[in-house]
Amino acid sequence: MRILFYDTKNYDKNSFELTSEQFPNIEIEYTKSDLDPRTAALAEGFDAVCAFVSSDVGAQTLSILHEKKVGLVLMRCAGFNNVDMEKAKEYDIRVMRVPGYSPEAVAEHAMALALACNRRLYKAYNKVRENDFSLSGLMGFNFYQKTAGIIGTGKIGAAMCRICHGFGMKVIAYDVYENPTLKDFVEYVSLDTLLAESDLISLHCPLMESTHHMINIETIRKMKDGVILVNTSRGALVKTDDLIEGIRMKKFAGVGLDVYEEETNNVFEDRSDEILEHSTTARLLSFPNVMITSHQGFFTREALSAIAETTLQNALDYEAGKDSPNDVK
Ligand code: NAD
Repeated sequence: MRILFYDTKNYDKNSFELTSEQFPNIEIEYTKSDLDPRTAALAEGFDAVCAFVSSDVGAQTLSILHEKKVGLVLMRCAGFNNVDMEKAKEYDIRVMRVPGYSPEAVAEHAMALALACNRRLYKAYNKVRENDFSLSGLMGFNFYQKTAGIIGTGKIGAAMCRICHGFGMKVIAYDVYENPTLKDFVEYVSLDTLLAESDLISLHCPLMESTHHMINIETIRKMKDGVILVNTSRGALVKTDDLIEGIRMKKFAGVGLDVYEEETNNVFEDRSDEILEHSTTARLLSFPNVMITSHQGFFTREALSAIAETTLQNALDYEAGKDSPNDVK
């Protein structure tokens, strides 16, 4: 079976090459180009293409893949909002994905952001490098015995609950469903109660109509002064203009973001300085208590190797004609 791997980064190639040793019947060719209508024809002679969140797997791309007799799109990510599923069905192209790879990877990054904001690690790092060993501006607060409010307690939110519990925090949560695995140490509360009582708020629910801009000026006003807000989920859960207003009101001790509203694959890639200068992300970066990372929550060795393994197993299941829970329907 031959796979054309689009939008290859060195770390993708390393993890897929290592994992593919266990899949001797699969041959992978790597290209740096991303999948879109201009590059789809490169897949001639391949059985499958491997694509990512940034790929354009819309109607035009699928029509070219169909022409080139490609029968499988392997999404090496959980999301598939960039795939035109109706067209894929029409052309009988199977689409498979990796629904969950390493929830701990994202939860650990959420806690890293929370700690970095609380203890001003970015500021401390820069000060000491400049030979300034004073402690001014670095005071934080103990997480021990404070309250963590986790919004969304699926795979990643549950991992974050366990981490916060391990820190000796009281853990409260808000979700539309209660996760039974957390019943011994998590108390479910209303969103308003969570906002009012938490010293650390971490977002782990998906972006949907009901969660779009759930953090806005009204919900920010309900939060405790001096709260730390962390978002590793999706940028548009937070209304950025309102967040900026909240930061100006001095509501937050710190804000840690791994995702932001303007994000494409990487907000800083292929964008001119001019656009960046005027972006709301750049405005956020101008505040000293905001720390932003570039959607790297998933980016651990373990998560990358789990993604490679599941993607290649998906390819084998396709070849064997087996149904799979990883099918996008
Ligand atoms: P999941 O489906 O296991 O959990 C999502 C939880 O959100 C579920 O328990 C669901 O009931 C809950 N939920 C749904 N609607 C809600 C609402 N209105 N209010 C509160 N909770 C609600 O998903 P997961 O694997 O834990 O992933 C969570 C999110 O993390 C994903 O949607 C994705 O956006 C993000 N993510 C980020 C990275 C990263 O690198 N930063 C990587 C993977 C996933």
